[in-house]
Amino acid sequence: MSAYEYVDHTYDVVVVGAGGSGLRATLGMAEQGLRTACVTKVFPTRSHTVAAQGGIAASLGNMGPDNWQWHMYDTVKGSDWLGDTDAMEYLAREAPKAVYELEHYGVPFSRTETGQIYQRPFGGHTTEFGEGPPVQRTCAAADRTGHAILHTLYGQSLKHNAEFFIEYFATDLIMAEDGSCQGVIAWKLDDGTIHRFNAKMVVLATGGYGRAYFSATSAHTCTGDGGGMVARQGLPLQDMEFVQFHPTGIYGAGCLITEGARGEGGYLTNSEGERFMERYAPTYKDLASRDVVSRCMTMEIREGRGVGDQKDHIHLHLDHLPKEALAERLPGISESARIFAGVDVTREPIPVLPTVHYNMGGIPTNYWGEVLAPTPEDEDRVLPGLMAVGEAGCASVHGANRLGSNSLIDLVVFGRAAAIRAGEVVDPEAANRPLNTASVEKAMDRFDRLRHADGATPTAELRLTMQKTMQEEAAVFRTSETLKSGVERMAGVAQGMADLKVYDRSLIWNTDLMETLELANLMPNALTTVVSAEARKESRGAHAHEDYPERDDETWRKHTLATVGEDNAVTLSYRAVHLDPLTQPEAGGIDPQKIAPKARVY
Ligand SMILES: Cc1cc2nc3c(=O)[nH]c(=O)nc-3n(C[C@H](O)[C@H](O)[C@H](O)COP(=O)(O)OP(=O)(O)OC[C@H]3O[C@@H](n4cnc5c(N)ncnc54)[C@H](O)[C@@H]3O)c2cc1C
Repeated sequence: MSAYEYVDHTYDVVVVGAGGSGLRATLGMAEQGLRTACVTKVFPTRSHTVAAQGGIAASLGNMGPDNWQWHMYDTVKGSDWLGDTDAMEYLAREAPKAVYELEHYGVPFSRTETGQIYQRPFGGHTTEFGEGPPVQRTCAAADRTGHAILHTLYGQSLKHNAEFFIEYFATDLIMAEDGSCQGVIAWKLDDGTIHRFNAKMVVLATGGYGRAYFSATSAHTCTGDGGGMVARQGLPLQDMEFVQFHPTGIYGAGCLITEGARGEGGYLTNSEGERFMERYAPTYKDLASRDVVSRCMTMEIREGRGVGDQKDHIHLHLDHLPKEALAERLPGISESARIFAGVDVTREPIPVLPTVHYNMGGIPTNYWGEVLAPTPEDEDRVLPGLMAVGEAGCASVHGANRLGSNSLIDLVVFGRAAAIRAGEVVDPEAANRPLNTASVEKAMDRFDRLRHADGATPTAELRLTMQKTMQEEAAVFRTSETLKSGVERMAGVAQGMADLKVYDRSLIWNTDLMETLELANLMPNALTTVVSAEARKESRGAHAHEDYPERDDETWRKHTLATVGEDNAVTLSYRAVHLDPLTQPEAGGIDPQKIAPKARVY
């Protein structure tokens, strides 16, 4: 028995995470009349959502014709036909409503001359079911859209009766004896107390796990804590092999230059000054979808046409654009380019390189955010008491590749959907069940083991080894050889957890212990990524397998489910992709012929 004393709390709902998805869920839950707590390891407005630049997709049609069917088609194609059709329809249909709601909450969107929400073109967003020109669908607040949304949502959450637990690190889920979820344990970082939250519904909104890689645009806090908590309960993670590389991370620093830069007219060149995207994607050129552009850049570099002394990166030009447009539409990235690359964007190109940016995979859910615990008899079985939203979840709307500006909309649409669903399934009148103390003890034993870890490897050292391994073996291009080596190397790296050394044993502002807990969460995310990738013998979306260059719908149009055992052994199974839309064509739904699989060209 561990010797911790607990501070106890009882709620209807506990949301873990205060990024865009967590805040939208929190305020929605409170609106439903549910007693709601939001637990977050960083101050809400420091969540990674604050860094989102380019914008949020919705077919408002403010800048030319658009409709939700076109948005849905682009999302299906962007996903390389791996997304769940019902969830993608829900996203595209609900998107305009969600954006107007944000507008009414007070998000300061950029405006057109007539005062409507300004929308810019983004990669993979088109008209006429991919037959027409690029569409202007991405609603933007200059190049600081995430910042505007996050601050507005935090203000709105405070207006409702949600209670915030800020700088509390959630360590583990509390599971009832029947396997359902009944709460979460959190460590209060500034005074070292341990808190047990008893809840009828726990919502994981913990964001992505970009930090499993060496070079990532994501914040250092993006450590896949929700996925780690779920994996430790023996529950599966879905489609983890699909990791998005953003084409334009600043060379060396990894900071993001938004796709909005190309949306506003920016273009890429190689060492010969050639606009090479015209060769690979004749129609949409620099605005082809992200996986495509990242692969083309990597191909140019491999064929010796990279720029710089090492010929190892690419140039992004904005220097032909009017200075006023840069100042008005892209002020933030002009500043980032100056600080992190020493470049004046009005005169010189920005050195860029594909950089890890987003995790399509995550905790499997239906389109209400309810977590799935599939069995052979029921692939869509819901696990009572647990939801996941935002980048931590996998609904799955992004399938094998996410379109730019489709994440911010995912956060608010599914944060809201989860709240609506909780309003239906959570009974505020019912009493909370007593906590399963065995589950709490198990979690605290693990916490204690890490706190007192006395091996020989510092956490930062093992983390770096993991990040380099993932970067080398599970990158933009993958081969059977690199993936096999990745699986073997990562198994060794994971074993290294047994030899960690934590230097600080206190419980107050112990960043050494916190980073160790984060590493323990990154590890199952990284392991399932490389094992799922090794098994998938085709190329689809972000998973570009050189030995299997074609997409193989016959065998591989299915979701991967990866479970981590006690000994770090990863077991794989598969789940069918949902092919049925929510609305039949007679009732105004999309024509199924339009979204039938075909070759994906831009
Ligand atoms: C640089 C950058 C630019 C982007 N630009 C765009 C864009 O223009 N358009 C777009 O659509 N998408 C964009 N994306 C993607 C999008 O911003 C993210 O996918 C999205 O913001 C993730 O939101 P989230 O709510 O899932 O999680 P996050 O915003 O990452 O928040 C996670 C929350 O979980 C909390 N948390 C995590 N672990 C714990 C724990 N153990 N205990 C307690 N709390 C915890 C954190 O405190 C935080 O509040 C961008 C991403 C990056 C990195």
